Amino acid sequence: MEPTDSAPATSNITVLRGEPLVVISDVDKHYGDLHVLKKINAVVNRGEVVVVIGPSGSGKSTLCRAINRLETIDAGVITIDGVKLPAEGKALAKLRADVGMVFQAFNLFAHKTVLENVTLGPIKVRGLSKAEAEEKAMVLLERVGVANQAKKMPAQLSGGQQQRVAIARALAMDPKVILLDEPTSALDPEMINEVLEVMINLANDGMTMIVVTHEMGFARRAADRVIFMAEGEIVEETTPEKFFTNPQSTRAKDFLSKIL
Ligand code: ADP
Ligand code: MG
Repeated sequence: MEPTDSAPATSNITVLRGEPLVVISDVDKHYGDLHVLKKINAVVNRGEVVVVIGPSGSGKSTLCRAINRLETIDAGVITIDGVKLPAEGKALAKLRADVGMVFQAFNLFAHKTVLENVTLGPIKVRGLSKAEAEEKAMVLLERVGVANQAKKMPAQLSGGQQQRVAIARALAMDPKVILLDEPTSALDPEMINEVLEVMINLANDGMTMIVVTHEMGFARRAADRVIFMAEGEIVEETTPEKFFTNPQSTRAKDFLSKIL
């Protein structure tokens, strides 16, 4: 889709599985002279899996960080479940808890056990008791296949295991949407699939997900939509099938010729 002024909510390619959950309207951002997000419009509906793909430096991470306000924006509005992202304070902490985040570098708390990594947020932010949080954490660690590592420190785990703990930690907050920013790109090749498997299961369970990834296999199996970004713009927005087999823009064609 070439950028237009029309609201994406009315776009005929938007898969309306549920009502809009994340709405990004006319979002603009500069880093000094660098125009990193140029009037971005996008809607992610409840239960949808959206893959964001694009060359390095195109603004994908900045957009992800803007969605839970780890990054400020210069103009535009982002709403999560109908609530505008507040600038700061308790309201922001609460809204942030609704947006689970998994980064490229598995940034677990290094001095906490795996179990503590997963229970900390629910105890502090969601007000669970330690026992409740631990019970919940063990269910989630089981779900991502690392329950037997619960007592260990992050450094004792493989990269793939750490990233699965990071996913469990994000899920422990009962987020409305989970954002994964290149979750497999720092992993050794043999560990990529175990993380993608967990992500595919989440998608199948109906979790709303925004995933920055170049993993075409994941996009084809799990994504409802692909958003292709280049130089701070959304250049194409379509199904994975159409994007990978029949990209429309020169920039997408160039990009795909390099990664495929
Ligand atoms: P992507 O995730 O698509 O690779 P990013 O969102 O990380 O892109 O970065 C987009 C552009 O913004 C890049 O040119 C990057 O160098 C620049 N950038 C990212 N973060 C900062 C920052 N904190 N300060 C200045 N420039 C930044
Ligand atoms: Mg990035």
